[in-house]
Amino acid sequence: MRTWQIKKTASHGYAIAPVYVVREQSVAPDNRTITDDEKEGELQRFQDAVAKAREELLPLAAKNEIFAAHHTLAGDIALYESVAGKIQSEHLNAEAALMQTSDEYVLLFESMADEYMRERAADMRDVAKRLLYALKGIDDNPFAAMRSPGIIVARDLTPSDTAKMDFSLVAGFITEEGGVTSHVSIIAKNEGIPCLVGAGPLLDEVRTGQMAVLDAENGYFYLEPEASLLEDYRKKAESLWQEKERIEQLGHLPSETTDGHRFRICANVGSPSDIRHALRYQIEGVGLFRTEFLYMENDHFPTEEEQFSAYKEAVSLLDGKELTIRTLDIGGDKGLDYFTFPKEENPFLGYRAVRLCLDRPDLFRVQLRAILRASAFGSIRIMYPMMISIEELLEANALLETCKDELRAGQIPFDEHIQTGIMVETPAAVLLADDLAAQADFFSIGTNDLTQYVLAVDRGNPKVAEKYNSFHPSVLRAIAHTIKAAHRHGIEAGMCGEFAGDEKAVGLLLGMGLDEFSMSANRAAYVKYQLRKESFEALQQLAQEALKKNTVRQVMELLEADKHNSEEL
Ligand code: PEP
Ligand code: MG
Repeated sequence: MRTWQIKKTASHGYAIAPVYVVREQSVAPDNRTITDDEKEGELQRFQDAVAKAREELLPLAAKNEIFAAHHTLAGDIALYESVAGKIQSEHLNAEAALMQTSDEYVLLFESMADEYMRERAADMRDVAKRLLYALKGIDDNPFAAMRSPGIIVARDLTPSDTAKMDFSLVAGFITEEGGVTSHVSIIAKNEGIPCLVGAGPLLDEVRTGQMAVLDAENGYFYLEPEASLLEDYRKKAESLWQEKERIEQLGHLPSETTDGHRFRICANVGSPSDIRHALRYQIEGVGLFRTEFLYMENDHFPTEEEQFSAYKEAVSLLDGKELTIRTLDIGGDKGLDYFTFPKEENPFLGYRAVRLCLDRPDLFRVQLRAILRASAFGSIRIMYPMMISIEELLEANALLETCKDELRAGQIPFDEHIQTGIMVETPAAVLLADDLAAQADFFSIGTNDLTQYVLAVDRGNPKVAEKYNSFHPSVLRAIAHTIKAAHRHGIEAGMCGEFAGDEKAVGLLLGMGLDEFSMSANRAAYVKYQLRKESFEALQQLAQEALKKNTVRQVMELLEADKHNSEEL
């Protein structure tokens, strides 16, 4: 048996299952020169790769013009002749001939004056990558061989990886890299799958099929555990399950403290099916619908009809409960297979979220119209991410108004009183909170980003993970300031960052006056159960004390002491 201790728990629970190792596929072209005898074989390999790539692209091309262009490019005669020429006369293997040809095309496209033609360089890169995968026989779905439940071990997992997963087969996750707000962590929490992240070097130590225990309650990973340990964990998993069931059965009780102060417990979701799952936990609404999943799971920008049908389904499922739809928050660490982002030194400070949307009103309008149309079927609020200025809010709202005008002109119904709010997740928005509160209908504090921007600590970088801490006094003061500013202007302040579901934080946040806690649905019943035991008056005092502290350690000591006091009562 081997044991690892891992401090970062992204999602609690126990998993007892064989390991399923996900290794990154190397797509290095392995260039080499070939003999005359090998030429025929290389030409044939290239022809087969073209046929395979075009076959993959055909169904995509029918739905999306970018892939239609890729389908044409992959079969382009001039491209084929260039590759064949390099195989024949320069003695290059198919991979090398392809990559050289692709580089030449990219250079040519990039040097053209016409912007449309310059953008074709990205298409060439994509097609070359697809042909390279085909040549090397690489399957781009790393989960294709997963047939029974397993604990996934990976370096890290991107949104396009998790989009290919069948979650019913995932017993747990453990990743070498990533922080508690990384993509895989959020997915794990949403799905209620135990997950440890930032484990350090692991992939070279494990093999698919080895039995393992993932203890995401205490931060341990055991490989090939002894029979007695396995038995212990089976019992622990069973009793954790029973406790969870017991608390969930109390989910129907009102969200109020012992002295009658009300709060709201909502869910963070990424799709209508997440909402179905969330409703089992008696949530009071959706505080964050991450629409980027709709974009990431597709092979094209979802059309107005596609988005409308997803939002309409979501709001109908909620049956009168409020749905907060966050407009597209892409960029940073979230890419799209079908859109080329500029190469950036600092993507988290770059072309992302509402910046991208305002720069591409053609894309943004499609989403805004779809949301508006869905608002005729229930209670929807619109929330803009990554705001740093009043101008951005006004510009987004102005675009929304033009969409409303179009719908009115077409006699298409929507909610005339739809609310628009912002995520407060940048220091700029915190410092401007009073002014923004005068323009916005609500605030939702995004502590995942706010923590990284206030502390200047990358939320996904394992080297600085120890420093990423939302209990830092600066972050707590930023949160308290934002809530106060909201209340001064008569609007509500919610939170949809992971901190809103953190059992150590929720009492403190309620004491600061937070109105809405939006979190992974399977945390909802537990947080409500915990807050129902508290008195608001006592929590207000606790918050006041905590805001005077000036180190994380002092804050944590205060919270620990408070926990002991309430347990003794
Ligand atoms: C946040 O930043 O707190 C948030 C909820 O958004 P995301 O994690 O999607 O950036
Ligand atoms: Mg964010």
